[in-house]
Formats: sequence, C-alpha cells, structure tokens
Amino acid sequence: MVKAVVGANWGDEGKGKITDMLAQDADIVVRFQGGANAGHTIKNSYGKFALHTLPSGVFYDHTTSVIGNGVALNVPKFFEELKSVTDKGVPMPKVMISDRAQMVMPYHIRFDEYEEERLKGAAFGSTKSGIAPFYSDKFAKTGFQVSELFEEKSLKEKIGRVIVQKNVLLEHLYHKPVLTVDEVFATLMEYKKMVEPYVGDVSAFLCDALKENKTILLEGQLGTLKDTDHGIYPMVTSSNTIAAYGAVGAGIAPYEIKQIVTVCKAYSSAVGGGAFVSEIFGEEADTLRDRGGDGGEYGATTGRPRRVGWFDCVASRYGCRLQGTTDVAFTVIDVLGYLDEIPVCVSYEIDGEETKDFPVTWKLERAKPVWKKLPGWKCDVSGIRKYEELPENCRKYIEFIEEQIGYPITMISNGPSREDIIYRESPLKK
Ligand code: GDP
Repeated sequence: MVKAVVGANWGDEGKGKITDMLAQDADIVVRFQGGANAGHTIKNSYGKFALHTLPSGVFYDHTTSVIGNGVALNVPKFFEELKSVTDKGVPMPKVMISDRAQMVMPYHIRFDEYEEERLKGAAFGSTKSGIAPFYSDKFAKTGFQVSELFEEKSLKEKIGRVIVQKNVLLEHLYHKPVLTVDEVFATLMEYKKMVEPYVGDVSAFLCDALKENKTILLEGQLGTLKDTDHGIYPMVTSSNTIAAYGAVGAGIAPYEIKQIVTVCKAYSSAVGGGAFVSEIFGEEADTLRDRGGDGGEYGATTGRPRRVGWFDCVASRYGCRLQGTTDVAFTVIDVLGYLDEIPVCVSYEIDGEETKDFPVTWKLERAKPVWKKLPGWKCDVSGIRKYEELPENCRKYIEFIEEQIGYPITMISNGPSREDIIYRESPLKK
C-alpha cells in the first residue's frame, strides 16, 4: 500500500513530524520531488533534526529511505546530512538512490545566486540551493542523471556540450568565471564515489515491494500553494508538490496511492515572497511567530523569520482538493491556546465580489480576507490524547475548519513529538 504525506499550504505544515510518526508502520519512505531547499524539523528520542533531503523515515531501522527520480539530489549535502544523523547516534539507515535521479551541480547553486543578485529587488527570495536552475536544466535535457556517472566517455562529451551554453551566460550576463570540462568532470567523479554503493532501480524496487504487500510512504516537500502548476506562480517552487506527482517522482502507478494525508496547519505561515491573503503583521504577528511551531516560526533551512497569518479556509480547501486528500492531519493546534478569539479567513473579497474559490495569482494579489472570529479555549491542550478531552471551543474550531475545507480531519497534532497526536473519527470519512 502506498500512502502520501503532503502539504496543503505553503510548506512547513509539520509534514516531517507526521511522516516520522507514520513511518513507524512503513517499510519504505520515498522523497519524490524537491531538493535541499526546504526542510523538515523532527523531534524524537535521538534529538531534534532538520532534514532537507533525507526522508523522514531514517530514524527507524526497519525502513528503507529512498531518493526518487523526481528529487533534485545535492550529493554532498545528502551525505553531510546522513553523517549529521549518524553522528547523533541514529543507526546507519538503509538508503537507496534512484539511478534516474538528477544531480544538483555546483554551478546550479551559483546560477541561483547570480540570478537573485541580478534581479535585486525583484528577486524570488530563493533559498539559493540551485533548485530552479536544476529543474530548468532537467527539462531542457541538459541535466545529469546519476546513471550517467557510470559511462564516463559519453559523460565527458556531454559536459563539453552543456558548458558551452553555461559559459555564455557566465561570461556575458553575470560576468563570472567560466566552467571547464575537467572541473565539472572531476566534481562528478567525486559524486560517483559517494553515491555508488546506494544506486539502484527504485521503480523496480518499489514494484517488488508492492507485490510483497509492503507499506510505502511518499513524503512531499512544501505544499500545494508552492506547486509549479497549481500554486501561486511564479512565487512557487520548481517542482510539483502534489501527491499526483508522487507517482512520477517515485516511479509507481498512480492508482497505487491509496491514502493521501494532507498536512494542514491550524494557522498559516509562509516563507519567501508572494500573495498571502490571511497574513498578519506587527505585534499580533510577532506573538504568533514566537509561539508558533516548536520554538518559533523560523525557516528550517535558512533561519529566516516566516511570514505568519490566520487560518485560510479558501487556500486550504483548494490545497486539500489538489492533493486528492483522504485524510487531513491538522497540526500545531497547541499553539493557539493563548488567544481569546481566533480569526479565520472564510472567503476572499476580490474587486468587490466575495468568493470561496482560490483564484489565479493576479486576482489573488487583489484579494482581501473576509474574517470570522471563533472563540478561543485559553488553555494548553498539549498532552491530550483523546478528542473528547479537548476543550469544547477547540473542538468547535476544528469542526468549523473541517466543514469549511470539506475534507476529513482524522489526525490532530498537539505537539512536536511522535506521541503528540489525537486520532478522530470524522463525519466526512466515507
Ligand atoms: P514540514 O516542512 O512540513 O515538515 O514542517 P517544518 O518541520 O518546517 O515545521 C514544523 C515545525 O513545527 C517543526 O519545528 C515541528 O517540530 C513543529 N511541529 C510539528 N507539529 C507540531 C505540533 O502539532 N505542535 C507544535 N507545537 N509544533 C509542531
């Protein structure tokens, strides 16, 4: 059986925690898109970890951690991360890297930096991890697959062809040092040494695992609103963050994905630029940011303060729909216990008209939030394990949001640890 854990919003919903929790019963955890540009924060008995490329199953010795073909693989970062995990006492995980995954090249990272520098004020707020140049090259067919490391003659020839184009940009657009075949080839040979013991045919491996009734978790990065096609283009990431892409990025049949757990945060947060209708500012925002997540809403990769806002029903309903949600995992509910009243954005007003449909970007930029205030519960709900034991106003908040988004909230997360979870029967679950 295949389950996907994906995000409904802008990322940072707490997917790492939910994946780590669900990985207890999984045999394989697969990353299927994205790269080292965003991170999951996971807290368990080994400590607190910021994972960027490693799947969140690495903490269990019964799981195999897989890098699917859809991932932007930064080879040195991947091995640094593996070391940082084993250095803290986690047993060396079983790892498999798809022979069809492509590699982030050092020049992708440099191009990312140079382009942000060139765009100055109009920059995308990229994490400068080389993700956009990487995916551009992948689809322009000038990227490098892991498999290509094992045929050195054609690899060298290809490098020669590829860098001609890169060097025109480096020399004339960015005025930076150019690339040489030898330098790029030497880098790739270093990468080859590192990845060689782990490379395999992931799609065939997963196909066999399914025949043996193994449980596979697909772990998404970021959320629907950062999806290249369905998100707030162009302030999106350069890959598809929706569960449907899990089939492509892992190499499995789409009908194998039976459960789609969409992680949805009890308030909103976002990193980077782009329209964010329910965003709040000033003291109200500072308080939420400092109380948010586990130790404040600051980026796992960059440490940047995240933009924060109240729950957005319009964006989250859309986010859940595009994921094909079977279950919503509603996270960080414990953070909201300090509020007398909790505003929720129930619809958007765009040019004088009210709508509950999430619009295209230029309309989104004109949208104003329509608020409804729900009563707070004014207490700490962490430690509660049964839904009935949550304060009435907290249950009402959850049930109101469930009704608004139209997808069953079957898990409620009330703390950063694996154990901080409340399972719930939802009236929306068929
Ligand atoms: P991801 O990218 O979706 O995995 O999310 P992040 O890891 O960037 O952000 C989630 C943050 O919230 C992490 O610091 C988690 O430890 C923390 N977290 C996850 N679930 C909960 C929760 O229910 N309550 C609290 N207080 N923190 C949580």
